[in-house]
Amino acid sequence: MAEVLKGNVVAKEIKEKMKNTIIELEKEGIHPTLGIIRLGNNSGDISYEKSIIKACDAMGIKASVFEEETSLDTVGLISLMESLNNDENISGILLFRPLPKHIDEEAIKNAIDPKKDVDCMHPLNLEKIFEGDLSGFNPCTPKAAMDILLYNNIDLEGKNVVVINRSMVVGKPLAMMLLEENATVTICHSRTVDLQDITKRADVVVTALGKPKFFDEKYFNPESIVIDVGVGVDSNGKLSGDVDYDNVFELVKMITPVPGGVGSVTTTILLNQVLLAAKN
Ligand code: NAP
Repeated sequence: MAEVLKGNVVAKEIKEKMKNTIIELEKEGIHPTLGIIRLGNNSGDISYEKSIIKACDAMGIKASVFEEETSLDTVGLISLMESLNNDENISGILLFRPLPKHIDEEAIKNAIDPKKDVDCMHPLNLEKIFEGDLSGFNPCTPKAAMDILLYNNIDLEGKNVVVINRSMVVGKPLAMMLLEENATVTICHSRTVDLQDITKRADVVVTALGKPKFFDEKYFNPESIVIDVGVGVDSNGKLSGDVDYDNVFELVKMITPVPGGVGSVTTTILLNQVLLAAKN
């Protein structure tokens, strides 16, 4: 039976450290504030927004939402971004993605002030990650996965770590972070051949497909450490990760649950980066 790697204990440790930073910032008259830009009323965005606002309230961080129509064009979004860049009361900016198809996402990524880029989307901030400098803003989800591994003292040096995702939001930056811990990293994707064979031989498997219960026992071995980043809704309407948790749990060594795993650390990482932006 697996050891369950819960996210709440990891988040709690980060929040404890954040409390001191908030006190120090307040002493200097700095009130950390997150500016959230949302286009339209996508239910996923709204529920993420609510959880962020709740988490901000609990930590004494201010959150201001800038809601726009999905019809907003690239020029309009850049102009909103610039007004938040220049607003001294906004420490960090979070833009909900994916954006509507008519928006030029590359132009938007370049428009955010790199010093306010708490979700690490500006090419300059991403470049730092790829250069092995993790001291600035980190993409929140890969950082959450890393923090769970490090909090649980999982030795990554020389270990075979398989990441199943090649997006710029999850897989690619996560691979760079794992390399910094001297892991031997394999990135898999939808064209990978013999995925089962690759994951079964790995020490650590990170799944980020967004396909509920895709990975069953056949993908793992009794020593597998499984980090499930995927979030989806299964055929019973229940929130589920990429891993068939109930069945895989019996076999593997360690596993993160969904909900209650990576996702519960991601928001805390975001808030921590708002503090970093406020210090900037
Ligand atoms: P994405 O861009 O759609 O990436 C999905 C990845 O999975 C792609 O690299 C894709 O390969 C790969 N894939 C799809 N089907 C596959 C298959 N049958 N075999 C092997 N690889 C396959 O999505 P994303 O934005 O990176 O997000 C991924 C997941 O993470 C989603 O479930 C999302 O909800 C979740 N997420 C969680 C958090 C959190 O805090 N927990 C935060 C953000 C995202 P190709 O590149 O070949 O298409």
